[in-house]
Amino acid sequence: MGVPEAVAHEGQRLHGFDVRQVTPLPDLRAVAYRVEHGHSGARLIHIAADDNENLFSVTLPTVPWDDTGAAHILEHSVLGGSRKYPVRQPFFEMLKMSMGTFINAMTGSDYTTYPVASTVRADLFNLADVYFDAVFHPLLTEETFQREGHRLTPADPAEPTGPLGVAGIVYNEMKGYYGQPEVRLSAEAEAALLPDTIYAKDSGGRPEAIPDLTYADLRRFYATYYHPSDAFFFTYGDIPLSEYLAFLDPRLAEFARRPTDAAIARQARWRSPRRTEHEYQVGEGEATTEKTYLLLQWLAGTATDPADDIAFEVLDWILDGNEGAPLRKALVDSKLGQAPAHTGYRSMGEEGVYQVGLKGSEADRAERFERLVLDTLQVIADGEMAPERVAAAFHQAGYGHLEIQSQFPLHLRYRVVEPWRLGADPLAFASMRPHLEACRQRYRDDPRLFNRLIRERLLENPHRLLTVLRPSTDWQPRLDAAFAARMAAVRAARSAEELRHIAAVSADVERGAGTPNPPEAVALLPQLRVADVPAKPRHIPTTTLRVADGIELLRNDVFTNGVNYLQLDLDASGLTEEQWRYVPRYVEAVHKLGAGRRDYEQVAEQVAASSGGIHCFPILARSAAADARGRRRLRFALKALDPQMEDALGVLTDMVFAVNPRDAARLEVVLGQAVAGARTGLVNGGAGTAMRYAGDTLTVEGHLSELMYGGPQLRLVERLHGDFARAGERLMGEIERIRDALAAAGGIVASFTGSDRACDAVAATLAGWRQRLGAGGGGVTPAALAVPAGEARVGLAAPLQVAYCAQLLPAPHYAHPDSPLLAVGAHLITVDYIRPEIRFKGTAYGGSCGYDALGAQLALASWQDPHVARTLGVFAAVGNYVSGATWTQTDVDRAIIATLKDGERPIRPAEATGTALHRHLAGLTPAMRDQRHSATLAATPQSVKAAVLAALETGLTRGATCVLAGRRMLEEGNRELGARALVLRDVLTGE
Ligand SMILES: [Zn+2]
Repeated sequence: MGVPEAVAHEGQRLHGFDVRQVTPLPDLRAVAYRVEHGHSGARLIHIAADDNENLFSVTLPTVPWDDTGAAHILEHSVLGGSRKYPVRQPFFEMLKMSMGTFINAMTGSDYTTYPVASTVRADLFNLADVYFDAVFHPLLTEETFQREGHRLTPADPAEPTGPLGVAGIVYNEMKGYYGQPEVRLSAEAEAALLPDTIYAKDSGGRPEAIPDLTYADLRRFYATYYHPSDAFFFTYGDIPLSEYLAFLDPRLAEFARRPTDAAIARQARWRSPRRTEHEYQVGEGEATTEKTYLLLQWLAGTATDPADDIAFEVLDWILDGNEGAPLRKALVDSKLGQAPAHTGYRSMGEEGVYQVGLKGSEADRAERFERLVLDTLQVIADGEMAPERVAAAFHQAGYGHLEIQSQFPLHLRYRVVEPWRLGADPLAFASMRPHLEACRQRYRDDPRLFNRLIRERLLENPHRLLTVLRPSTDWQPRLDAAFAARMAAVRAARSAEELRHIAAVSADVERGAGTPNPPEAVALLPQLRVADVPAKPRHIPTTTLRVADGIELLRNDVFTNGVNYLQLDLDASGLTEEQWRYVPRYVEAVHKLGAGRRDYEQVAEQVAASSGGIHCFPILARSAAADARGRRRLRFALKALDPQMEDALGVLTDMVFAVNPRDAARLEVVLGQAVAGARTGLVNGGAGTAMRYAGDTLTVEGHLSELMYGGPQLRLVERLHGDFARAGERLMGEIERIRDALAAAGGIVASFTGSDRACDAVAATLAGWRQRLGAGGGGVTPAALAVPAGEARVGLAAPLQVAYCAQLLPAPHYAHPDSPLLAVGAHLITVDYIRPEIRFKGTAYGGSCGYDALGAQLALASWQDPHVARTLGVFAAVGNYVSGATWTQTDVDRAIIATLKDGERPIRPAEATGTALHRHLAGLTPAMRDQRHSATLAATPQSVKAAVLAALETGLTRGATCVLAGRRMLEEGNRELGARALVLRDVLTGE
């Protein structure tokens, strides 16, 4: 990838656009063009780069007027049909048949953005065409508003004049979202920190305010903000600028320029700090001790100033960047709460906010927490900062700005459009390297730079807010009672005839939502043909080196921009079931305890100084060969720059061979953090929690995953933590035994992407490990692991306002000839059955049917779902749907295109390193991937249907179901399910 030559000059007119500015961006090997459309006033920035992942986006300033979520409901609604494409849900129709690497829309706190990306040129322009029409010519019907936003509906459709409720996709999405305590924490804190600005309002919509939005308000909101004069277009990639302009010019011709005013007032600064307190719901019988969140925030900088941004980023690495960092350590050592959380610098419009948080605390410790943070900052500001610590912080900050991440075009869009729409220099954040260098120079000139930053922007800054979020067992019931009273009042004011009308309208919306588009309407949409799909999937160019007996090193030839990536796997197939329970504790010991002769602080500092992070995690995979053998491994992943590679490998070696869990005091603290994390994780995990629980009784991998991340792990850490004086010794022993078993197993496979020099260092290090490893060559005998028996249908009760439903079915494995057809079939089931039934009609936020070929499973899921019994009924009827489906070859072709897009994803270095290793261990050769690609292209309606029906016939009788939801929702669901009722358990206690 070289720097493209400039193809336009300032002052030139191209396709109705005036070229205002041409800026080479050597760091990105790109050129930026800033142009403006003469007639409409539309502004565009195009970044030309030698990258075929092209991106088209339009962003509009959508400043909220209140908490009714108009901007968010509008984001959903404009994608619901437009002038040129008057079909239901053109957005979802495109999802069915596009190669897009990104297709979505997002509502920010003061803007809405519509980005699409694809590596296939025709596809990108198809998507751009549909998006342009959606954004500037939406139909915005009242029916769409009622489906996406909200509508009154009888709580029981069989009783049209009975009690009323509210339905709506955004309404349920936000109910699910606000059910997470950390979401409430940040929403309440933001509203209190910026009370006089638009950021005190939630553009996404608060569930209690959404029903106040009227259809007329929505249209008025649209008319206010959606016009090309207000819009910021951003494009990226190797499609020439002139093609984008030629695409836009005729489409913009019908819009005359209009004055724009999107200025957002900044918050007036306070003279003294403030405090705010709120509640969130925990389970009804749940203890409330040590479940309070505390958050301290300052309006500390200007978000559109890159100098502020980089200085706070480095400061945050200094204060909180690793386990030995002084602010993090002070919080942990204070024992005021279970774990530091949410610490860092973030932007809210133009305001830059620095914040420090603690979870697992108590409301009556809030003042001590605040005092501790201020005192700690005072000591740091007054003292000397160790130059090594500051150097490590600069080093850490550098990675984020060097790495070529997945979804790179999308990240770049954010960095350019964010300052641009706020009136600042759009290219100021495009490359952060110069700002990082300038900051380093400022620090060299003034070694007290960060001391001053702490003093002036934090300690002496009175615009400081302390937020307390307390657990409550009756907060939600009080809200529910208020909602019920409100619904009762609405109902009381209506005649029986009016109520029947409300029920009829709601039923109409649901019926309409579930009616598929007629083929002639879908045919209006621009579409790819199967012939447009590349003939073969993309392969990662990988060569294999044999470093020593039993040690293999894969070398991936992918551009990395100077960062080296290493991932390596240790054979864990010999671990027993009991040992797998302790694997998460082993992983945590690697991340948070000492190793070799170094204590945890020294290890943390060394990791920060020498690498961009070292991580450890278990891998539970299966072979792609017909035996589908389990591949259970422990993976270590690191990234480092050339000069630090040897040091980084030294730390890694210590971690692998000499992780040391014997610091009992530290181990106990870490365990306390794990308790807090496991509790919130189970509830917030939503669909993942339900899916994992369902998988427990189906496969060994599913069972181990539930042991490590599900309820059993929470119970284990609670037990260990509650009885640490006795259980601590056992825990230390288990961690050591896992460490030693991994080393004794030998057999290492590594994957590397980066420079020759670093690759040599990796090979030398691995060769040096040979004598410390066991026999090697995969000589270890796999432990015999069994799948437990258990109930096939379970409901997990949690403090939630929505449900997450999951049903897992065994299905043919990757090696089975039906496997490629099942992938196509699962896509068709998602887009033609599950999504219409669960989302469009059921008003859940989402639903899908997924097929995991290597895991040999089909998974049906819903999320942020207002229903339990109804959704399980939809799942149960999937076989009937498939039997009756009348898929055409056109439908199947669209599904083929969407299924094959994964093989066309751009190869970015970090992801490639892990994927190459995964494919190698699963035995997924390029020839197998090519063969699967061809088999997918050959799918027909008949072959897909036969494969899916065969899979469902056996799968549906042997599957497992789990629903995570509020207890009352589950009980109500069980009344409807009758004989098929779920066995109810509490998600936290398992009882
Ligand atoms: Zn949404």
